[in-house]
Amino acid sequence: SSQSTEPRIQALPKKVVDRIAAGEVVQRPASVIKELIENSLDADSTNIDVQCQGGGLRLLSVSDDGFGIHPQDLPLAATRFATSKLKQWDDLKQIQTFGFRGEALASASMVGRLSIVSRKRKLPSSGGTSCAFKMSYSDGEPTSKALPSAGKEGTCVKLQDLFYNLPSRKRAFEGTRKENEEYQKILNVVQRYSVHKADHGIGFVCRKKGGQTDLNTASIATIKKLRKQIAEMEKMEEITDSLKTDLKALKEQSTRDVIGHVYGSEMAKELLPISCSKGDVEKVTLSALEAMKNEESTLNSEKSEMKLVTEGNSLMDGLVVNMHDYGANIAKETESQTMAQSGQGQFSFAYRCRGFITNGSYCVPKASSAFLLFINGRLVESAALKKAVESVYMDMLPKGAKPFVYLSLELPGPHLDVNVHPTKREVAFLHEDQLCEALASSVRELLQDSSTSRTFYTQT
Ligand code: ADP
Ligand code: MG
Repeated sequence: SSQSTEPRIQALPKKVVDRIAAGEVVQRPASVIKELIENSLDADSTNIDVQCQGGGLRLLSVSDDGFGIHPQDLPLAATRFATSKLKQWDDLKQIQTFGFRGEALASASMVGRLSIVSRKRKLPSSGGTSCAFKMSYSDGEPTSKALPSAGKEGTCVKLQDLFYNLPSRKRAFEGTRKENEEYQKILNVVQRYSVHKADHGIGFVCRKKGGQTDLNTASIATIKKLRKQIAEMEKMEEITDSLKTDLKALKEQSTRDVIGHVYGSEMAKELLPISCSKGDVEKVTLSALEAMKNEESTLNSEKSEMKLVTEGNSLMDGLVVNMHDYGANIAKETESQTMAQSGQGQFSFAYRCRGFITNGSYCVPKASSAFLLFINGRLVESAALKKAVESVYMDMLPKGAKPFVYLSLELPGPHLDVNVHPTKREVAFLHEDQLCEALASSVRELLQDSSTSRTFYTQT
């Protein structure tokens, strides 16, 4: 009998492994919403509509007017590591889309009841489909055929009964208070993307199913006008400088209006546009890619071959591991090489930043949701940057008060450890200290300038 209780190593069944892994990717309803919104943005949508029920546990749904999924691709949509965004290892270095590893929908289907209704957009080059098609999934696989269904161009992804098969996880989100908390988190993600995408004329709606609309940026007049203008300019052959200037002003106003819609018009009045940069982000990106290519052909060929012959899971993990290795290599070499190299070397410090921040006399009512950071288009978190920027305000605002800060940063892609794990929002990047200092001093300058002009105004 002692033999039967003695623990022996055994491989877990695939279903169990998948579910555990999926539970890690899908930590909470708000993390699913982020993935679904990013998919809609990847699909070139201009309207994104989020609906929830029961804090996202009973229902999460995101509909968009993007380019849709081909009915023949529907069976693969929830297959792990199936993606339309990355075809080979080389693409990973220049990835422009949010998704790149085909993990989100697969994971969702392993911890909830997933269904997709999609209708391909009509293009001059490709016909589109005459109706929408619907498919349901479980554990990464379709549970039905693609059924013709009513639906407009675009995609609607629905996830019901999240965590039905992970009861202890589900319990952590149950109860009215928890549900409301989770809904706030979901709304928060939608709010942030609606601010960030305002200058593209992309509108968001968020509500509880059957409830009132808590956010609707699609109906803001400047957003509508901006959309029209962008569409018109896409058709034009030549764009004059005055049109460009008009567009820039309209984009800025749209962002202000969306911030006003989301955080209150009182705050929108106190916003200062920020814009600063150093070096040439594109040039550094190119030379870093070039260096990566060279390094890979010499150092990494053996390694990636080795990783690539392993199957399934480890195929993509292999890619990710290599990305990490690369990041680590950069970090190690940086100190010596940055010093040695002058000009636009692969490790040069370069960044571009734009955004809006409140002035030195305004405090936000709700401190928790006031720091919006996007790096290369991704919603991320960086404790270091947050601290650096917020500390500038410390001498100006009352103790404990927080500013509103929205920053959109562009960094050379290869210097950034991309969001390799879907839930990892905290990012790492090269030249962190330098960037923190540069941003803090730009913010300080801007605040000082604005307070001088304020004093000046009140004196006259
Ligand atoms: P990834 O985004 O990493 O490719 P996902 O699991 O999020 O992986 O999505 C799988 C695939 O499903 C995508 O590559 C895309 O082709 C398709 N897809 C998902 N959502 C949408 C959408 N809203 N519109 C169009 N296609 C979509
Ligand atoms: Mg995705």
